[in-house]
Amino acid sequence: MANKTIVIGAGMVGVCVAWHLQQQGFDVTLIDKKAPGEETSFGNAGLIQREAIFPYPMPRNMTEIMRILPNQSPDIRYRPLAMWHYRHALWQYFVHSAPQRFATIRQEWASLIAHCTDAHETMLQAAGAEQWVRKVGWLQLHRHASSFEHAKQHVQDGNAWGVEARLLNPQDIAQLEPDLNSQVFVGGVHWQNAWQVTNPAALVKAYAAHFVSLGGTILQDTVHSLHHQNQWHVHTQNERLTYEHAVIAAGPWSQDLLHTLGYEFPLFPIRGYHQHYTLKTGSVLNHSIVDEDSGFVLGPKQAGIRLTTGAEFTLMDAPIRMEQLHATETIARGLLPLENALETTPWLGHRPCLPDMKPIIGAAPKHPNLWLAFGHAHQGFTLGPITGLLLAQQMSGQDTLIDMQPFSAQRFTA
Ligand SMILES: Cc1cc2nc3c(=O)[nH]c(=O)nc-3n(C[C@H](O)[C@H](O)[C@H](O)COP(=O)(O)OP(=O)(O)OC[C@H]3O[C@@H](n4cnc5c(N)ncnc54)[C@H](O)[C@@H]3O)c2cc1C
Repeated sequence: MANKTIVIGAGMVGVCVAWHLQQQGFDVTLIDKKAPGEETSFGNAGLIQREAIFPYPMPRNMTEIMRILPNQSPDIRYRPLAMWHYRHALWQYFVHSAPQRFATIRQEWASLIAHCTDAHETMLQAAGAEQWVRKVGWLQLHRHASSFEHAKQHVQDGNAWGVEARLLNPQDIAQLEPDLNSQVFVGGVHWQNAWQVTNPAALVKAYAAHFVSLGGTILQDTVHSLHHQNQWHVHTQNERLTYEHAVIAAGPWSQDLLHTLGYEFPLFPIRGYHQHYTLKTGSVLNHSIVDEDSGFVLGPKQAGIRLTTGAEFTLMDAPIRMEQLHATETIARGLLPLENALETTPWLGHRPCLPDMKPIIGAAPKHPNLWLAFGHAHQGFTLGPITGLLLAQQMSGQDTLIDMQPFSAQRFTA
């Protein structure tokens, strides 16, 4: 078999890249220091966000900045050391968030999101993994009329991109979620053609298992470095391996591997936490809900009700801080009859972010047969399968489903 390829990183993105390359006839080895789906793709909110036609810009208006600055809001926290460490990337993020620039970015981003559920569907059916997915949409709920007005605009914009949504009043919310304290909300949106996943890691593992069942290889080992000399030589903790093609899909760790090859991509992490809870006996949560004005997600998962926090700007190895989760938990307990926390220590993970809010999917500019798929930020779980398809199309020299220029690595190296 030709095109011996190593994919580094077995999160949602790497697994989907490996799967799609295999479909194109590549001989693929997937390598990860852990089992598939055990890092960022393990602990996310598990939403496949067909509605997410806008990425998240950095707040630029003074009222919003003043709200965040005291570092007390439940949705966004920051640590000054991290702000300094990532200052260049964050400045670029601020610049790309300017309205005119953002208007272009959101079109480019939407062109990717528009294919997310179709691409998952192909893999779901092939892998027989439908049991992990509930195609019931999710609820975005608003406490303030102003943010609800904003959401209505989003619903209108979404029409052109195939997003299906229904506006909700408090009675509608109560009907959909009888055990939720719906009185605190002025309204909401039911994003109807988005999906929720009851165990995100299990879905990644199901896709990975299908890849193995078709002859793919998975290695559990840590990659220390790689270099190119006629072929790609990959140095792992345990051995030296040789491949024709190498793909970096290591999520928030991707830049660590690329640094030694002379690349300086402005990748920065945005941390989030999760904790599971039991619900009072007899109570139920039917949909994942996002308390939009408080910035957290509550979702029914196999393990319990998963509370997922918003953004914390911090260093990858910074110690855990409980304040944001505690603040969020207090608000969540006002919404649902949550009982015991099920873990003693919450899970934490890092969204792999790039300043222009788009992932890199394509060839590395300075090396032959080196390919990149990282930087999916808040929606990598959603975008794994379409990323895999688009990268496999590029690597096998086919026409791509969408224009890949906006996702090229050259935008950071030119
Ligand atoms: C709190 C939170 C909530 C989120 N909610 C959602 C959501 O609802 N929907 C959504 O679409 N997205 C969501 N996201 C974002 C999503 O989880 C990420 O974008 C996505 O998981 C990134 O996938 P990945 O495969 O790029 O990275 P990862 O899943 O982190 O995979 C990278 C892999 O690379 C491996 N690796 C790294 N370095 C090496 C090395 N040197 N050698 C070997 N292996 C290595 C790691 O072990 C890891 O398994 C959320 C994220 C967070 C933190």
